[in-house]
Amino acid sequence: PKTLRLILGDQLNSQHSWFSKTDSEVTYLMMEVRQETDYVQHHIQKVVAFFLAMRTFAEQLQKAGHRVIYFKLDNPENEQSFEKQISLLVEKENYSRFEYQLPDEYRLDQQLKNLGDKLSIETQAVDSEHFLTSRDFLKDFFKGKKTYLMETFYREMRKKYDILMDGKEPLTGQWNYDQENRQALKDKKLLKKPLLHPKNVKDIAEMIRQAGVKTLGSLDEENFPWPVSREESLELLDHFCEKLLHNFGAYQDALTTWDPYLFHSRLSFSMNSKMLSPLEVVQKVEEYWHAHQNQISIAQVEGFIRQIIGWREYMRGIYWAKMPEFAELNFFDHDRKLPNWFWTGKTKMNCLKESIGQSLDLAYAHHIQRLMVTGNFALLAGIHPDEIDQWYLGIYIDAIEWVEITNTRGMSQFADGGIVGTKPYVSSANYIKKQGNYCDHCAYDSKEKVGEKACPFNSLYWHFYARNREKLEKNPRIGMMYRTWDKMGNKQEILDQAELYLKNIENL
Ligand code: FAD
Ligand code: SF4
Repeated sequence: PKTLRLILGDQLNSQHSWFSKTDSEVTYLMMEVRQETDYVQHHIQKVVAFFLAMRTFAEQLQKAGHRVIYFKLDNPENEQSFEKQISLLVEKENYSRFEYQLPDEYRLDQQLKNLGDKLSIETQAVDSEHFLTSRDFLKDFFKGKKTYLMETFYREMRKKYDILMDGKEPLTGQWNYDQENRQALKDKKLLKKPLLHPKNVKDIAEMIRQAGVKTLGSLDEENFPWPVSREESLELLDHFCEKLLHNFGAYQDALTTWDPYLFHSRLSFSMNSKMLSPLEVVQKVEEYWHAHQNQISIAQVEGFIRQIIGWREYMRGIYWAKMPEFAELNFFDHDRKLPNWFWTGKTKMNCLKESIGQSLDLAYAHHIQRLMVTGNFALLAGIHPDEIDQWYLGIYIDAIEWVEITNTRGMSQFADGGIVGTKPYVSSANYIKKQGNYCDHCAYDSKEKVGEKACPFNSLYWHFYARNREKLEKNPRIGMMYRTWDKMGNKQEILDQAELYLKNIENL
């Protein structure tokens, strides 16, 4: 039957069984649409990256002999909505079948289901053949359990896919090396030059501007650095194995002004757009480690693999287990507006200035910047989770709702009241100081809790615990904090300092 198959912008999986053979009856449809550029204000590099990767993918399909219809954003015949365009095509060109890959976003899932119901032809949704588990695996795996422990899920994935395993036991006798992976970076010389894929993106950037798409952040139009093809993504994976894996785990949690990427892989865009599969990434890394065991310790490798088959896969499971309610959760009833300097980086707090500044420049921040700097501050200051989600969903190259909202609302903001994490990720300046050199260059004093120079994290930290006592005191992992707080002598002074900072939040 004459079939129309939709490929969404984050479904660039050339290894999908759809493409194993060409078929003159099958036409693939790809579209750059306003519905996707406008559901949140995105970083300009994110829009460029998706469109370029889509165009590259479409060209490669055509070269391989597949029939492809591609609508650029500025094509006058572009209806700017999947629903309209598909209905029109089906009608005009007499397709008798419509197929799509299961989307990863709830929003698109609903939209395509509705469209399928409306179309007069047969519709089928197929798996995207990307993840290690089906959408509902995690929900079923934890059926009847109150908490969804990531570690339990992760071990199941290790066993299921035989990764770093010796039969039923972990290969090196230990499942998790997290304890060893928390060092601050002391030696600049360990750092490696990142592998960038510079290209000129003037035309596509101009098209986006001309169309009036509202974006944020900056772009070097002559040196756009992100991988936009499977080939470039595989190069980045090789580079990670050869240059970065040696130190990945050890400095996974480091914070420093020396380098924006440290030993992080920068593979999130390649995986989230499905140019690479998570399984091939971890298999490649495991293979590389086996061949270089004398140079690379297991802690580095396990730390990396856990992020992908553990956290990434787990977040996807949480998303499908808890959406759409998850998007409304606000456990602490936080309601403050996000300070304007989140959009400019103009703050005197050096850790935030650096983390936000680099996010605006590069559409990238590593995990600890997202969790323990920007996320930590937002939670301590009581910002509304909707405001925070919008920021994270817009600013990062890898931000797609299924992995953004679970990390932001769940892991970082504890707005889910403890589905993703067992306690809120908050810290005073102490943690940020211990992990690197941000505090060395700051207008504030990391050791002070009160006074003009006192680091805002310190008083806000206690303010957070004090104001949420009822909600947190019974948590066995937190109770001790309240005993410390109760013994502190200058409680009121600290709370007053925090109130003052909250009142002046725009000027911190
Ligand atoms: P590396 O440090 O090299 O890690 C390797 C890979 O592991 C990543 O590419 C990613 O696929 C995976 N990974 C690591 N941590 C996580 C995690 N917590 N959840 C899911 N996957 C993980 N990741 C996104 O892909 N999209 C997002 O929108 C996103 N938003 C986040 C928001 C907040 C508040 C926080 C705390 C984390 C968020 N993360 C998100 C997770 C993580 O920060 C990024 O995946 C990572 O920084 C991407 O950079 P990298 O590829 O260099 O990662
Ligand atoms: Fe951040 Fe406080 Fe350190 Fe400044 S002193 S860098 S605000 S933690």
